[in-house]
Amino acid sequence: MSFAREAKNELTRIQDLPACCRRAELSALARLNGRIVDDEDAGRPAVEIATENAAIARRIYVHVRDVLGAPGRVIVRKNRRLRKNNTYVIRLPLPPEAVAAHLGLRLDSAAGAFVGAPADEVTKKTCCKRSYLRAAFLARGSVNAPSAHSYHLELTAGDGDHADRLEALFRHFGLLPRRLVRPKGTILYLKEGDQITEFLSLIGAHNSLFRFEDVRIMKDMRNTINRLVNAETANLNKAVRAAMAQVRDITLIQETIGLEALPPKLREVAEARLRHPEANLKELGELLPGGPVSKSGINHRLRKIHEIAMKIQSTRRPM
Ligand SMILES: [Zn+2]
Repeated sequence: MSFAREAKNELTRIQDLPACCRRAELSALARLNGRIVDDEDAGRPAVEIATENAAIARRIYVHVRDVLGAPGRVIVRKNRRLRKNNTYVIRLPLPPEAVAAHLGLRLDSAAGAFVGAPADEVTKKTCCKRSYLRAAFLARGSVNAPSAHSYHLELTAGDGDHADRLEALFRHFGLLPRRLVRPKGTILYLKEGDQITEFLSLIGAHNSLFRFEDVRIMKDMRNTINRLVNAETANLNKAVRAAMAQVRDITLIQETIGLEALPPKLREVAEARLRHPEANLKELGELLPGGPVSKSGINHRLRKIHEIAMKIQSTRRPM
């Protein structure tokens, strides 16, 4: 199951919401997933709220019963196409005008949908702000798994007025969504990991938030470790290349003028380097028979050896 779906299922298990919040949730679900249809049985238009998620359908059903005072009708539309989910439709028990009045929504009969932002009082209380965002996420939200290439959480907000309201709700909780205007509706989205966890927290998806954080921490740690390992490897390669060049210098001296020709201090370093080509400069300094020599001291002597090797090299070069 996708991370987004798990988060949504978790949200549908939130119980015991106060009446104001149940209404705020139903308002967001009707606003984003509702449409006006002809109810042949009742002989009048009706509001339908559709979802492909059975757990969300159950929540809508319960909210309709509690908020509108009468149960809706559940219709399951089987999708004939393979691997497509069923669609669950809840047909609301009241006419569209009455639903709009109960839920603080604006009805656009011509468009066959609710439009604009809900009435201010729907999202006035902080608890209702959370609930409205929660249901907007249930209706039209998605979030990448934390393991995905990039962090991403988005809400399809519908028209500009509704997008403004949702953005105000985000901002109320210190979240700064970015905005993308598409022909099918404005999208609000978050790209930062800590803003996404904050959003999951404020809508009540705590288990999903912990899972998100776990993976995020592991991922960040892995990135840090990789960076360190890469840096270490780069340094190591540099050290190995330097040691190989030193061994070449020393071998050249050995084969031409002989190590005996070197001043004692250089000679002891040259011999130690030949015996321990893998040692780093600090270790090399500690291996000297005359007692430990500092890294910079060793470096200095190796440079001298290199200069001597360069001189030998230049006299050997054919004119
Ligand atoms: Zn409330």
